[in-house]
Amino acid sequence: MEKQGKNYKLVSCGEINGGGRIVLHDQLELTGAEVSVNELPAGVSVPFVHAHKRNEEIYVVLNGQGRFYIDGDEFNVQAGSVIRIDPAGARCIKAGNNGPLRFICVQTEAQSLIHFTENDGLPVDVKPSWFE
Ligand code: ZN
Repeated sequence: MEKQGKNYKLVSCGEINGGGRIVLHDQLELTGAEVSVNELPAGVSVPFVHAHKRNEEIYVVLNGQGRFYIDGDEFNVQAGSVIRIDPAGARCIKAGNNGPLRFICVQTEAQSLIHFTENDGLPVDVKPSWFE
C-alpha cells in the first residue's frame, strides 16, 4: 500500500526473503534519517567491515539470531536486541546458522538530536474518527 498526504508518505517494505535489503530513503523522501529493513540469510555475513563519517546507526533485531563485530568486540544478538554504534565504530554483522537475521537499521547524524519525545511534541486541536 502506498499513500501520500501533505505531511506524510506511506509505503510498504513488503516481504523480505533470501537476503533482501530495502532502503527507505528515496521511497519515503526522508530528510533526517536513513532507514533500511534487512534480512541476512542463515550463516551469511555482511562481506565487509564499515564505519561512518557522521552517522550513528541503530540496529533493531526483529527476528533470528546473529553476531555483531564492533571494534574487535564480538557478541550475540537476537530478536529484541537494539544496538547503537557511533560513527567511528568498525562494524560487521553475521546471521546465525539456524535461520535468517532480520533487522531494521536507522542512520542519523550523531549529536543532531536536540528535541525529542515530549520536548518536540505539540498538541494539535483535531481528532481522528475513533475519538468519540
Ligand atoms: Zn552503516
